Amino acid sequence: MKCIDLHVHSSSSDGTLSPRELVLYAKEKNLAAFALTDHDVVDGIEEALAEGQKQGIEIVPGIELAAQYQDREIHILGFFIDYKDPYFLERLQWIQKERKRRNQKMLEKLNDLGFDITLEELKSVAGKDLISRAHFGKLLQEKGYAATITDAFQLYLSPGKAAYVQREVYSPKECIHFIHEAKGLAVLAHPTLYDLSDEEIKDLIKILKAEGLDGIEAIYSLYTNEEEAKLRSWAHHYNLFITGGSDFHGKNKRQIDLGTGRGNLKIPYELLEEMKKRLKK
Ligand code: AMP
Ligand code: MN
Ligand code: MN
Ligand code: MN
Repeated sequence: MKCIDLHVHSSSSDGTLSPRELVLYAKEKNLAAFALTDHDVVDGIEEALAEGQKQGIEIVPGIELAAQYQDREIHILGFFIDYKDPYFLERLQWIQKERKRRNQKMLEKLNDLGFDITLEELKSVAGKDLISRAHFGKLLQEKGYAATITDAFQLYLSPGKAAYVQREVYSPKECIHFIHEAKGLAVLAHPTLYDLSDEEIKDLIKILKAEGLDGIEAIYSLYTNEEEAKLRSWAHHYNLFITGGSDFHGKNKRQIDLGTGRGNLKIPYELLEEMKKRLKK
C-alpha cells in the first residue's frame, strides 16, 4: 500500500527537521507523499518541493491556521495552496504581526513578575522569526524559573495564568475563505482535540460546512478507533472528504513518528486522489 502523511511540521514552524530533512526522512519511511502544514507560515514549502522532486516524493503545499471558535481555538488545515498568492501572504503577515504584539505583552508581564528574560533570548531559543508560547516555556525552564515546560504553562503561560495574553486570530470562516482564495482545500484539523462533546463537534462541522469547509481530518495519531469511525461517518454525512496525518513535529513530539504516528497509523494514497478530484471541480 502506498502511504502518505497529510499533517507535518518542519523547523519553519515548531518541528525540529528542516523541510529538506523531512523529505529525506519521508523517503526512509517509504512515504509516497506528504503535506507540509506548518503553523501560520509557508516558508518551508519551496525547499520541500525542490527536495521532493529530487527524491521522487510528492509534496503537497499546505498550512495549519489557528481560528477562534466560540471561546476556543480550533485549527484549519489548507492543502494545495498557492503559497505565493499575494492576498494569502498578506493574511499570514497579519498573523505574524499580531503574534509579535502578543509576545511583547507576554514578555512585559513576565518581566513585571520579576523574571529576567529578554526578546533577544526568546529569539535565540526560537532560532527563527516565529516565537510561540512553547519558546517562552523553554526559556523559563532553561533559566530555572520553571522546573519543566509543562510547569511553565501551568504556572504562567496557559489561559487564565499570570503571563497569558490572548493572540487574536481569524474566524474559521475567514480561514476557509483565505485558503479558497489561494486555490486550496480547507480541512478541519483534529476535531476531537477541542474538548467538545460529540454533539458539539457535529455542530461545528455543520457550521463550517455551511462556510465552505471541504474536508475533515478523520485519521490522526491520537484518535481511538471509535473517534476515527465517528469522524468518518460525519464526514460522509456532510459530503466532506477525509484526510489523515500524524502531526509530526520531530523531537518536539517524540511519541509521534512521521507517517506512522504512535506506531500503527496508515494513511492510504487514495485519500490524496479524492482530494485532487475535488480540486478540479
Ligand atoms: P501560541 O501559538 O504562541 O499561543 O503557542 C501555542 C503553542 O504552545 C502550541 O503549538 C504548543 O506547542 C504549545 N503549548 C500549548 N499548551 C501547552 C502546554 N500545556 N504544554 C506545553 N506546550 C504547550
Ligand atoms: Mn505545533
Ligand atoms: Mn493543530
Ligand atoms: Mn499540527
